[in-house]
Amino acid sequence: MAEKRSITVAYGDGIGPEIMDATLSILEAAGAQLNIEKIDIGEKVYEQGHTSGIAPESWESLRRTKVFLKAPITTPQGGGFKSLNVTTRKTLGLYANVRPCISYHPYVATKHPVMDVVIIRENEEDLYAGIEHQQTDEVTQCLKLITRPGCEKITRFAFEYARAYNRKKITCFTKDNIMKLTDGLFHKVFEEIGAEYPDIEKEHWIVDIGAAKLADSPEAFDMILMPNLYGDILSDVAAQITGSVGLGGSANIGEDYAMFEAIHGSAPRRAGQNMANPSGLLLGAVQMMVYIGQPEVAEKVHNAWLKTLEDGVHTYDLFKEGTSKEKVGTKEFAQAIIKRLGSKPEKLKAVKYATGEAKKIQGSFKPTVPAKKDLVGVDVFLHWNGANRNPNELGKILSGIKSNGFELVLITNRGVKVYPDGAPETFCTDHWRCRFTSKKMDQPGSYADVINIITQVNSKGLDIIKTENLCRFDGKIAFSLGQGQ
Ligand code: NAD
Repeated sequence: MAEKRSITVAYGDGIGPEIMDATLSILEAAGAQLNIEKIDIGEKVYEQGHTSGIAPESWESLRRTKVFLKAPITTPQGGGFKSLNVTTRKTLGLYANVRPCISYHPYVATKHPVMDVVIIRENEEDLYAGIEHQQTDEVTQCLKLITRPGCEKITRFAFEYARAYNRKKITCFTKDNIMKLTDGLFHKVFEEIGAEYPDIEKEHWIVDIGAAKLADSPEAFDMILMPNLYGDILSDVAAQITGSVGLGGSANIGEDYAMFEAIHGSAPRRAGQNMANPSGLLLGAVQMMVYIGQPEVAEKVHNAWLKTLEDGVHTYDLFKEGTSKEKVGTKEFAQAIIKRLGSKPEKLKAVKYATGEAKKIQGSFKPTVPAKKDLVGVDVFLHWNGANRNPNELGKILSGIKSNGFELVLITNRGVKVYPDGAPETFCTDHWRCRFTSKKMDQPGSYADVINIITQVNSKGLDIIKTENLCRFDGKIAFSLGQGQ
């Protein structure tokens, strides 16, 4: 028998306590060897004044056990409160989000009878870095950060997962036709690391058409790897089209820590009525049992759950006259699973988890070799409302400014070139990007030139929002050109 493993458990809000009770009763009946440390999260904790939804002392339990089984919480509306999920992911470094999305035709009604897709979402970077600013009266900005180590870790994780779970193909979704540097890096790393896994088929889709294809023909996909934002949105779409959001479980994996949960929220309207479907949390817990090295328990629970679905014992969200046989509450559904522990589904495919050691799939990254970096210019961002926002007037004001070959070559507004030779139709806000480089963008300068340029811009009484250095790495231009440049 496996040694007892300590885990941290939070019962959450709304339907959380009911589905957690159901899940833990099934795990216990299946012989899970767990030492449970209970912590409070969510509404109660927010009300006590902890803006992140978790009390400082709860981190001690998480640091001790390193494994978190978490029920959904109700996120308070309004300012000042931080998302507990985002805080936990970032604090514990949970860079990989894993969501298997499977349809259970004909037992669960779905438009997609053949669907078995695992979504792997990068969990820490992208627009979720939370770096936002209002820069002018009219313009706000959110920084999209994509790092090479972040891309390498999640990509390697995805390929290792594919091997461990016998998956054949990984599809990467990005929008690198537009975001050539950020999404471009994600795609490039996918190709680089993919080359180390010749046994796994690889493909790349632009995220918009990929999303359409996923919603229409999910059977075309095996695993999908995505940066954070696309993954956040599309993993919900994928879960929903399997038949019910109540069926999806997810794992958030880091180097040392892991968190397991249902993908749905706290469904407050269903709370306290013994109605909710505990399947999402249960399937999250199944992933946890594999992770902590008790795969036999995971397999027993998963197969008993499939058999229960197949036998037509369904909670209200899955119940359908004709296919379902018995409509049950949360507790009765758990009891039905417990009764079937040890049996396997006959029509649905039974699962098999490799026995033995904990299956801790890990991503990794190699230290980045620094390139030769040259500074070839600077973008100066201005808040400017003068001269009826006529770009030619702004161009005139800036035209005498020079430092060591850097001079004004371009002004854009929302990325569109408006000077020189802008189109009169282009709508202009109060936010201007003024690019100073040598004519061919090939003359290296120094930061002293940047300071010199902004000192001259400042002396014209202009409102500088920020500057962004323009660089070449190993001789290659490492910034996007303005639309129309
Ligand atoms: P929700 O997922 O709670 O509910 C959406 C719909 O799905 C509702 O109709 C609900 O009745 C149904 N549903 C959800 N889970 C179900 C289950 N297990 N069984 C049967 N039906 C189920 O989403 P929401 O209503 O947008 O959000 C409610 C609260 O949950 C909000 O405060 C939100 O911020 C929070 N939330 C938390 C998490 C989390 O803690 N991980 C995730 C998403 C939303």
